[in-house]
Amino acid sequence: MTIERVIKKFQENHPGADVTILQLAFEFADAAHAGQLRKSGEPYIQHPLHTAYTLAEIKADAATVAGGLLHDVPEDTSHTLEEIKTIFGPETAMLVEGVTKLGKIKYRGIERYRENLKKMFLAMATDLRVIFIKFCDRLNNLRTLENLPPEKQKRIAQETLEIYAPIAGLLGIARLKWQMEDICFKVLYPEEYHDLEYKYEVEKKVERNQFFQKIRKILVPKLEEAGIQCAIEVRFKHLYSIYLKMQKKERKFDEIYDVFALRLIVPTVDDCYKSLGVIHTLWKPKPNRFKDYIAVPKPNGYRSLHTTIFGPEGKTTEFQIRTQEMHEESIYGLAAHWYYKMQQGGAYQSPAWLKEIIEIQKEITNTSEFVKKIKLDIFRDRIFVFSPKGDVFELPEQATPVDFAYAVHTNIGNHAAGVIINDKLGRLDQELRNGDFVEIITEKKRPYPNRDWLKFVKTKRARDRIKQFAKKSKLETIKRLIPGIRR
Ligand code: MN
Repeated sequence: MTIERVIKKFQENHPGADVTILQLAFEFADAAHAGQLRKSGEPYIQHPLHTAYTLAEIKADAATVAGGLLHDVPEDTSHTLEEIKTIFGPETAMLVEGVTKLGKIKYRGIERYRENLKKMFLAMATDLRVIFIKFCDRLNNLRTLENLPPEKQKRIAQETLEIYAPIAGLLGIARLKWQMEDICFKVLYPEEYHDLEYKYEVEKKVERNQFFQKIRKILVPKLEEAGIQCAIEVRFKHLYSIYLKMQKKERKFDEIYDVFALRLIVPTVDDCYKSLGVIHTLWKPKPNRFKDYIAVPKPNGYRSLHTTIFGPEGKTTEFQIRTQEMHEESIYGLAAHWYYKMQQGGAYQSPAWLKEIIEIQKEITNTSEFVKKIKLDIFRDRIFVFSPKGDVFELPEQATPVDFAYAVHTNIGNHAAGVIINDKLGRLDQELRNGDFVEIITEKKRPYPNRDWLKFVKTKRARDRIKQFAKKSKLETIKRLIPGIRR
């Protein structure tokens, strides 16, 4: 890797930007790390250069790419953070300091691991760019993993799979997530990895290509007739996701593999819906598999239309339909966009989960509790449900109508007596599904929430409100029963 390549990549995404800081940061880091070698034997500067290159790829800004070049200077060389601040200014220095504070994860027992994880979340809540640098740093360390002892390789891979990859997913940086996952999969389950790799890349390749050509021949003319210019591509499923599906659904490779995955990239949002119409006219859609992430994007900003159809030869085929802009966002993530908006003082709303992290952190000082809570509340997947008025509510997967009621309003939660889900009577403890229409039936006379709800609610908000009420009503009862206590 060279600084020229880093700068070229950076300029692709930031045409005309001043790159002096990148050149300077490289020269400073190169001099600082002079004589140091990586475990692989190559000059140390290769590591910060690769880190900076990946940052440029995910469209990071100049201060962040410079931060990537400098990220190991304060810890591994005789140069200080103060010097970096003087030369490169407070912004880059702050980023480097953030990464340095995150520290190198050295794995001395579970406590240290948790402490590091907590630090990572806090850094994320402060400035997302610190996390971007840390991710790209980690990715390069993963790619050079084979130079470490096997035990250490496994520990790093495990941690990446448990913590880094899910956070990358949360931030919508699919590209980093896949890359990390497949490297870790190979390290942790080498046999399964090579087995899948052979089946997917070698055995099925011809079949996949033939099927793709068949679909293409039918679909492209029809789209052209409708005036839609499109690019179709085969979606290569990354191996770890195939493996996970096989685990989760206990299915064989052939059953998973039989699902062909294609992606359609069209010029406009309008074309997305039009092409969906064309596809559904040509082939029968599979019920309940259509998802409109354009009208209702995922919490990490992901947008696309998803549908599954019974294609030629009755083969199940998944389509993702999106514009070029949506496509790029799905690969590089929206995190950067959020940050820019925030800096420009626009009407920026930090994503709900980021606010939750800050809230949870205020409340829970015990580290292992904090980590458990984050994993429970943040990492679980999210669903969207609708109120009768059509308002959208974002809830964790497995949330119940009671969680929904409290998300709408405390009073609705407290007085909830029943629920109508998609025009049918439902139960207050049942799991809601993505896209459900939920109407809570309230009973004004009902004096307080049912304590038993605590057994099934999934959100902190609902739990807190129910507990709060339970406490209050207990106190009221005591006051009523024991005369003489002042109200
Ligand atoms: Mn590093």
